[in-house]
Order: sequence, then C-alpha cells, then structure tokens
Amino acid sequence: MSILPDSLPPTTKLYWQDPYRTAFTARVLHRLEVDGRPGVVLNRTCFYPAGGGQPHDIGALAGIPVVDVTGDEAGRIIHWLQAPLPDEPDEVHGEIDWPRRFDFMQQHSGQHLLSAAFQDRLYRPTIGFHLSDNSVTIDLPGPPPDDEAAARVLDFVQAAIAEARPIIARLHPLEEAIRLPLRKPPQVDGPVRVVEIQGLDWSACGGTHLRNTAEIGHLVITRMERRGDQTRVHFLAGGRAARDHLERIRITRELTSRLSTSLGDLPAAIQRMQDQVKQSQKAVRQARELLTRAEAQRLIAEAPHTGGVDVVYHILEQDELWDMESLIKMLISFPSVVAVLGSMEAGRARWIAGRSENVPMNMLDNLAELKETFAGVQGGGSRDLIQGVAPDFDTLTKALHLLQAFAFDLPDLISEE
Ligand SMILES: [Zn+2]
Repeated sequence: MSILPDSLPPTTKLYWQDPYRTAFTARVLHRLEVDGRPGVVLNRTCFYPAGGGQPHDIGALAGIPVVDVTGDEAGRIIHWLQAPLPDEPDEVHGEIDWPRRFDFMQQHSGQHLLSAAFQDRLYRPTIGFHLSDNSVTIDLPGPPPDDEAAARVLDFVQAAIAEARPIIARLHPLEEAIRLPLRKPPQVDGPVRVVEIQGLDWSACGGTHLRNTAEIGHLVITRMERRGDQTRVHFLAGGRAARDHLERIRITRELTSRLSTSLGDLPAAIQRMQDQVKQSQKAVRQARELLTRAEAQRLIAEAPHTGGVDVVYHILEQDELWDMESLIKMLISFPSVVAVLGSMEAGRARWIAGRSENVPMNMLDNLAELKETFAGVQGGGSRDLIQGVAPDFDTLTKALHLLQAFAFDLPDLISEE
C-alpha cells in the first residue's frame, strides 16, 4: 500500500528521457512527512529512485539536500529531503549529483556488457548485481572461472568498448519484448523497458545507462570470490577502473623500490624474503633454546643442593631472552631439580613451579597449601608443574619462598641413589 493518495499521477521520468540531464524545474504535486523526514512528489524528475541494483541519486531541490529517493508501484517518486521545502513557490529547481550519477552509469552499463560477455563466452548467466558507492559485483552460478576463461570474457568486453556500440533504451509491449533474446525474462505485466547494447545484448532494465560502450572506458575484474556454489565477480569500470589503476601503480612502485626489484620480479623477490624470514625465525628459535639451556645450567649450578635435589629460585628480569614457561621446562628436563620462578610483567605477579620426573613430590599438594596460606594466590596445573598469579610482588616472593621450603623439606629419597 502506498503512502501517497491514489489521485496522484505517476512522475515523469526525465532520467529515462535523457539520462545525461543534470538539472530541471518541476511542479510540486504533494508534500508529506514520515518519521520526521519531509518528502515531496513532483510532476517530473531527474532523480533516479533506488531500484534494479542501482542506488538512488542524491542532489538538491530548491537548494535543500535530497538524501533519499523512492518509487512506488504506481510510478510516483518521492524525494526525501534534509529539511522541508518552503511553501512557495510551487515550482522548484532540482539538480542531481552528476559525477556520482555518471559513475553509476559507467558501472551499470559496464555490468550489462560484462554480463553479456560471461553469457556469450562461458554460458554463465548473471543471477545477481550489486552497485554501491564503493563496490560493484555480479553473481554467477558455479565456481570461479580460470584465468584463461576470464581473459576471453575481458577480450569480449574490450572489443565492444572499442567498437563504441550504441546503448539504446526502448519501451516494448510485453508480447514484443518476450520475442527479444533477453538475458532474463521480464518481471513486469505492462510494457517492458529493454536496454540494448546494439547487436550484442538485450536486458529488461529500468536503470540509467551511457550513450555507447566507449564511455565505459575501461573495465577490469579485480577479484573472483567463491560463495557456496556461486561466484561473486568484483569489477570496476570507467573512472573507478582508472583510479584503481593509479592506486595499483603507486603501491607496486613503492614495493619495487623498497625491494629494489622490477615489477615482474616482485613475486619472486617476496618469496625470497619470506624464505629468509622463515630461516631467521628457525635460527632465532635454535639460539634461544641454546641460551635457555645455558641459563638453566647456570641456575642449577648456583642452586642450593639439599636432599639430593637442586632447588632453583629465580625471579625473571624484564629483559631476559626466554619466557618463564620455556625456562622451567628446560630446568625440569634435567634430573633432580625443583624450580620456583616468578616474574612481574605489566604489573602482574606470576609464578610457576615444577619438578623433574624423578623427584617424588606432588605439586598439586603444594598448590593447595599455597592457596590456603595466601589470600589472592590463584593457579592450577599438574602433579609436576603448577603456575598462577599473586596479588602483588610481596605476596609473590612469600609464595615462592613457601614453594622453595616444600622442596627443602623433602625426605632424602633421592640422595640414596
Ligand atoms: Zn541496466
């Protein structure tokens, strides 16, 4: 149901009569307001309402910004305004945002041609079309075509652009329209508006199009994305393709300069760099392991020896090259070690304690006692390794000393070996 009175006649579509017309005068036929947004219906307009995959125009009526344009089933077009029109006069001057509209015409006409090319070269029908200020796509059934197939499609497109084929829109009676080789059957009851790329393509469409294919300028596919059992083809036409080209030149120029290589050698240069990074990472891992081992051996050598066990106590400094976990794992990989480590990182007091496989001590018992003794000490772990946090540095050192004491209290089980 329309929000407009039945008596209101359909709006004359100046954007169909001449899609290149940017300004017009018209009579105000009806004013309305919905949810605080003023709207106006004119006897005629250049403003294209949203539809058929093409976004609505923006611009101004009597100097007031037009923020949205919608059409109803009866062909009446509502201009939604940022502020109400003055009451007088009844005739207004309108102007559309032409650069934006021309961009849409390039993308939309490019879409007709690209869809025709996919149909002609790969027998792939277009089942979806999306156009916005920053993206334009069509959807095809099936998986993405390979590079060779895509090249054949683009050859078809570029040939048609070079031929500057006229693009003509005509209203046909339905019975006449259905005899045309339309890419999709028409979805209207009355006369059908058919947009023809002369001799190449016939589409039922209510959008705005260029005069001829030469004005598409250039068309490129930027990405083909698999979506379930369909493919979304991202493409750019006209000014968008040109701007994208410049951006790619800027980026590749920066990359070739940084890597001191040519455009063609860029992929190989990046591959070499990735290989080098991998090798370096491996070398760093190996070096760090050697250093951690040396540090573990130094800590064990300096540790008090009691009951056949080396009891390591250590608080890590900020700049140590190993983390607490790898250091404790290294420490308890040596036999007869109990290790108690702590660290302060970003104001967090962390502790970790572990024992070698041959030390008969259940660290979970120690954990239980630790939690009972110090409020705010939390943690978890296994029979040979426990770790957690303390509320502050003072509690952390006290907790570490208690963990150390458990090791000193061990019966001389190992010393008999
Ligand atoms: Zn169209």
